[in-house]
Amino acid sequence: MSNLILAIDQGTTSTRAIAFEVSPDGAFAPVAVSQIELQQHFPRSGWVEHDAAEIWTATLQTCREAIRKAGGVGRFAAIGITNQRETSVVWNAATGEPLHRAVVWQDRRTADVTARLAAEGHEAEVQAATGLILDPYFSASKFAWLLGVVPGARERAERGEVRLGTIESWLIFKLTGGDSHVTDATNASRTSLMDLRSRQWRPDLCELFGVPVQALPEIRDCDSRLGETDASLFGRALPIHGAAGDQQAALVGHGALQPGEAKITYGTGAFLVANVGAEPVASTSRLLGTLAYAAEGRVAYALEGSIFSAGSAIQWLRDGLKVISESRQSEAMAQSLADNGGVYLVPGFTGLGAPWWEPEARGTVIGLTRDSGPAHMVRAALESLAYQTRDLLDALARDGAPRLETLRVDGGVTANAFAMQFVADICEVTVERPAFQEMTALGAARLAAFGCGLTDRLATPPSEAPAIWRPKMDDEQRQALLKGWRRAVRAAIIAAGGNPE
Ligand code: ADP
Repeated sequence: MSNLILAIDQGTTSTRAIAFEVSPDGAFAPVAVSQIELQQHFPRSGWVEHDAAEIWTATLQTCREAIRKAGGVGRFAAIGITNQRETSVVWNAATGEPLHRAVVWQDRRTADVTARLAAEGHEAEVQAATGLILDPYFSASKFAWLLGVVPGARERAERGEVRLGTIESWLIFKLTGGDSHVTDATNASRTSLMDLRSRQWRPDLCELFGVPVQALPEIRDCDSRLGETDASLFGRALPIHGAAGDQQAALVGHGALQPGEAKITYGTGAFLVANVGAEPVASTSRLLGTLAYAAEGRVAYALEGSIFSAGSAIQWLRDGLKVISESRQSEAMAQSLADNGGVYLVPGFTGLGAPWWEPEARGTVIGLTRDSGPAHMVRAALESLAYQTRDLLDALARDGAPRLETLRVDGGVTANAFAMQFVADICEVTVERPAFQEMTALGAARLAAFGCGLTDRLATPPSEAPAIWRPKMDDEQRQALLKGWRRAVRAAIIAAGGNPE
């Protein structure tokens, strides 16, 4: 029986294929994994590129290996794809050859373009239509840059000879032997070119950014049939039946499909995605309005906020400050203290993200005394995860999002029970960590399984019980800690020459 789903997880640092077995009750069990690291190219300061051809080759190789390990292509019902979002690819429509290296989401080369558009007063219209602020992070300015730098590309794009797309679109084109040039609505919602309500490209925004609409992929629901693989690739044609950007796929993986449900992934940075329901919410707190998913015949919207330094603060304790030799030692060290001793660390190593958006901010420590030692730095770094999460949840509340009861978490830092309890205490929410951690790949698998009819619901409760942390701190203590944190954030912003008001 074909009851396996192949989930492709094309991330920033690696490409993975995971085979999931889907049982009749709708439970997903991983049965094979294959992974290949991805080379990073930094041609100039602030520029980050990937080789799209390398991504394709690695995808093919990992898929073939996972299929082989799982017992052959005959066992598979469909493919689902999840991917690093915003990363932009340009390719020749006829040959399928990339015309330039892909411009990665982290790349800031088009900062002058988005700054100019903001100075010309376009931010309000872009935000109203797409939910996004003007920032080089999103694909539109990257697409335009690619068309400008490859000789003749813009004219050829206008004639339909050159294609543009984000990573899932590129992979679907290659997997289908050039048959399908499509994207899913979550990936499209990260370009600055899609209207959040109609889920169609906006001709006015395409013109504003200089991106010919005919070069863009067709936008589809996340669980729709996106194409069929060229039969020669895996020995049999497989339908591609699901796609979503990585953070949205993780939301689906967590099963956070109802308004008021949210997930945060604590990896190097941290990404909060909160389901706000069937209508988009316009943020006044500089959170991003985005699509949660378009599947099961309905659409859900989300607000998103990112924390730039989460696990990277722990890496800094280990590799920079050298007060721990392994990340996991941070837990016992933080717990060796009765309290934080008034020491707060604002991990603004690469600026502060939402809701502060202070790119010039840097790491700041306040409250040091002669008693402060390495454990205080460790504890302050772990506590900062919770304070930053609280800032995002407060921004959500200001935007009128439904109140969260439970915050679902995943990512490397969630191994730290001290940090998770502190998040529950500071944020006044129940924190829930599923036993199975690969939420991104699971989300893609769920979309594809539902899309191809293997399951009758997008999400079923996990079979293994999650780890749960409930708030137990008294309010007086919480408020005193939050007061200290806010002083520290003000200090960080003032030190960067910004205005904390
Ligand atoms: P990414 O996907 O961004 O590479 P991961 O989800 O793999 O990140 O998480 C890796 C991060 O988790 C690292 O920054 C590491 O320092 C941190 N980390 C891992 N284990 C712990 C722990 N026990 N306590 C705190 N941080 C941890």
